[in-house]
Amino acid sequence: MSVIDYDAVVIGGGMSGLMAGIHLLEQGHTVAVVSRGDPAVCLSTGCIDVCGTGVDPMAGVDALPATHPYHLAGREKILAALDRFSEIMTDMRLPYAGNAGENRAIITPLGTTKLTCLVPRTMETSPRKPDEYIHVVSFKGLKDFYPSYITSARKNTGFSLYDAGVTTTMGIAARFEDRKFLSEFITWLKGLEIPDGKLAFPAVMGLEHPLSIMQEIQIELERWGFEIPTLPSSLPGIRLFKGLKRAFQAKGGDVYWGSPIASVERSAKNIEAVTIETKGRSTRVNGQAFILATGSFVSGGLFALRDEIQETVFNLPVAAPGPRDDWFNRDFFTPGHAIEGAGIRVGQDFRPLEGTLENLFVCGSIISGSEVMKYGCGHGLALATGLAAAESCAEALK
Ligand SMILES: Cc1cc2nc3c(=O)[nH]c(=O)nc-3n(C[C@H](O)[C@H](O)[C@H](O)COP(=O)(O)OP(=O)(O)OC[C@H]3O[C@@H](n4cnc5c(N)ncnc54)[C@H](O)[C@@H]3O)c2cc1C
Repeated sequence: MSVIDYDAVVIGGGMSGLMAGIHLLEQGHTVAVVSRGDPAVCLSTGCIDVCGTGVDPMAGVDALPATHPYHLAGREKILAALDRFSEIMTDMRLPYAGNAGENRAIITPLGTTKLTCLVPRTMETSPRKPDEYIHVVSFKGLKDFYPSYITSARKNTGFSLYDAGVTTTMGIAARFEDRKFLSEFITWLKGLEIPDGKLAFPAVMGLEHPLSIMQEIQIELERWGFEIPTLPSSLPGIRLFKGLKRAFQAKGGDVYWGSPIASVERSAKNIEAVTIETKGRSTRVNGQAFILATGSFVSGGLFALRDEIQETVFNLPVAAPGPRDDWFNRDFFTPGHAIEGAGIRVGQDFRPLEGTLENLFVCGSIISGSEVMKYGCGHGLALATGLAAAESCAEALK
């Protein structure tokens, strides 16, 4: 068995875990992220929902129930986390637009609109007025994107279809990385007689650095263009995840990916180590402090049995919204599904309230009362609690 020591070990490599890990690295600590699989951000639009209950996200946060974990982080930390996030993504050449003072409505692949706060710059010019002309350009055979839903939901639209020679989101995005393909596409676009207005594309404008591709199209066509996220899993979410993971690694963080945690060593007050199995070999990852960022049910941080809800790494007590009969609903994605309130109760310092563990901190959607779908606060909450938990952890490491 190999043994590796870190100051802090983050379990779960989603938005909250990576944000926490980056902050701890910036404070000079050695950090590892251990993650079983890819996080929920890969299923997302790549936009940062802070609070989608109205046009002003921070007013929405203020109005959340007193038990909501946003209040543990506090307004200042939420804003600091969003600023830090924007700086990191700019450094990763995936800049974001928007600010915490205003939500904007972006077009979804089903033609509806979604309120969100920060958007990748490739979505920045998504129309704000319902009668603004948009010309939707899609790709032959592309699934997960429904131009007819978009054009029928708006008054003033046009539509064209390009044959990219491949039909998958990833395949088309990879083709956009090829300059010859891009210039042929631009030539084809120029040949269309598109009325004045904006160009709307499914989010396939390259794998890693879509903004430069979008900007080239905009300059050549002398008009604004914007991406519309496809159905999950959507490329902007994958780009966001990869960008944040790259930022963590560029700052010196280690990642152990795809490895379930085989065992945990603990004393009454502390977690000492987790053991992971990689390629038939055991690795013991020692930490002075641990951060639990394993997400909720979608990512497997929580697991519901008939009579109880389990936390899957440390078997921490889970606060559940009453007995099963009270929360059961077949459609998990119903906003306001009561099970969304389940999770780990934490104190102001983001340590679990129940139990005696002193070197464990919790962040992200696994915290009880998060209800990210009901309040439209997924990545915003993950970033704010990731930063707040990491600050408490850094304090404990002093
Ligand atoms: C379909 C869908 C679309 C969404 N769209 C948006 C959106 O557009 N904008 C937005 O702001 N929010 C969106 N959300 C919500 C948002 O994705 C989440 O709230 C947020 O990403 C949660 O981040 P997290 O860090 O708490 O956990 P997660 O992203 O869930 O990450 C948890 C990580 O922990 C790992 N893990 C779990 N168990 C273990 C274990 N036992 N050992 C090791 N690792 C483990 C998982 O593999 C995963 O990598 C969406 C959610 C879904 C499901």
